[in-house]
Amino acid sequence: MSNSNPEQVQRRIIIVGIPGVGKSTVVAKVVDILNSRGKSPKVVNYGTVMLEQAMKSFGVKSRDEIRKLPIEVQKSMQVNAASEISRMEGEYVIVDTHLFISTKEGFWPGIPINVLQALKPTNLILVTATAQEILDRRQKDATRTRDLGTRELLEKELFAAASLLYASSVIAGCPSLIVENANGAVEEAALKILAAITAS
Ligand code: AMP
Ligand code: MG
Repeated sequence: MSNSNPEQVQRRIIIVGIPGVGKSTVVAKVVDILNSRGKSPKVVNYGTVMLEQAMKSFGVKSRDEIRKLPIEVQKSMQVNAASEISRMEGEYVIVDTHLFISTKEGFWPGIPINVLQALKPTNLILVTATAQEILDRRQKDATRTRDLGTRELLEKELFAAASLLYASSVIAGCPSLIVENANGAVEEAALKILAAITAS
């Protein structure tokens, strides 16, 4: 996307990926590289915005408890988070979130159409990895209470993620990109994202 006045260019980048794919790590790398280029991206983690609400209103103590709340509760927090995020300004606003959340009731859209329209992304990026890599990463992550899942379920989730990404791209009218976060290749993944979001 180009703009004749560089000061007016605003990138609203939605970065998604199934839990354990290494999304937060890749996003941190993207931010480091942008900082080293003199840019000041803003990163907003959807889960953090929802956690703040969930702690205040529902006594939730950790981000992994959010998805266990009743869907109606999650839904209202999700919309509130979208309106808060849609007001954020900056040259690069990176929104770290999910295309779907695994709940007791099944897959639930993390970015339903009203949220997508509120967020108005300029770029949709899916960070992905193989099912085996994700399983290994979930097992190693002691900071989170990840649902470990099976390889079969992960394959389904990976398929759902790519399908929902492309569907969202049609609705948002913006490009979508799938980036592999292979073992030991965080920087490579970050550079691919940077190439997409700094393209003019
Ligand atoms: P994360 O740290 O990225 O795994 O996010 C923590 C939690 O926030 C997720 O497990 C979800 O419960 C919630 N969350 C994040 N993004 C969304 C979203 N777009 N819609 C609904 N819930 C979300
Ligand atoms: Mg994360």
